[in-house]
Amino acid sequence: MEFLGRDTESRDLVHVPNSRPCIGPPSEYDKEEVVTNMVFVVSGPSGCGKSTLIAKARRDLAGLAFSVSHTTRKPRPSERDGVEYRFVSEKVFARMVRAGRFVEWARVHGHLYGTSKAEVERKSRGHDLILDIDVQGTRQVRKKIPSAVFVFIMPPVFAELRRRLERRKEDSPEDISRRLRDAAGEILAFAEFDYVVVNDELERAVGELKSVIVAARCRSAVRAGALGPILRSFASRARSSPKKGKP
Ligand code: ADP
Ligand code: 5GP
Repeated sequence: MEFLGRDTESRDLVHVPNSRPCIGPPSEYDKEEVVTNMVFVVSGPSGCGKSTLIAKARRDLAGLAFSVSHTTRKPRPSERDGVEYRFVSEKVFARMVRAGRFVEWARVHGHLYGTSKAEVERKSRGHDLILDIDVQGTRQVRKKIPSAVFVFIMPPVFAELRRRLERRKEDSPEDISRRLRDAAGEILAFAEFDYVVVNDELERAVGELKSVIVAARCRSAVRAGALGPILRSFASRARSSPKKGKP
């Protein structure tokens, strides 16, 4: 991620990559705190457009890494191991759970999905991180990374969600039925999130997701670490300010 900082040699404002210290205040809920740069959690029912929106936001905004989850689901024709997911057997997944290697994990639409600690630690080094996870995983992340920003993607209407899942042509009719059944419960969780983006018109929705990310990056607590050079430039000016009574 890039921050506005100040080159000590030059009078110009410059972009200083990775100048902010790690954030992540200690959780009052969980001792096993994960310390990272900013974490954005994007959730919503299958087919609502999470992957599409995340890909477009990442294309336009620098410094946003994507967290590649582990799953026991079989790869879709378009998916590559290590890119969309790390595809593993139930046995391997269970071993990882027992070894405590997940930040969060859940059974979703009949398959296991999880965010590994190694992935979060590796990808968030020098980057902000986006997680595309379900609402059960979101609740676990909220306990471990309370500073994360939570965004819910809402489909415009049920019939359009069905159309998108069917048009995507990646899941079997049985899988699509299950995902649509699960969606009815999932959307009720929207109020647990900091932001809701309704994905009706794609470009407008992408704009909203990007605005959330940009606004979160501008929070004073997040920016504070990068402000040192600016603040110091004012401090030196205060020392050399004119004596009292003289304009
Ligand atoms: P998710 O990751 O939430 O499961 P996808 O990003 O795969 O959803 O989107 C599901 C399908 O809907 C894809 O074929 C995608 O191209 C399409 N899609 C996404 N957003 C929109 C939109 N705003 N309008 C129309 N189609 C969309
Ligand atoms: P899909 O099979 O369509 O790729 O994903 C199905 C659901 O699993 C989506 O809601 C997606 O957000 C969720 N998911 C993907 N990765 C993870 C993960 O690591 N953890 C959890 N809890 N859910 C995930």
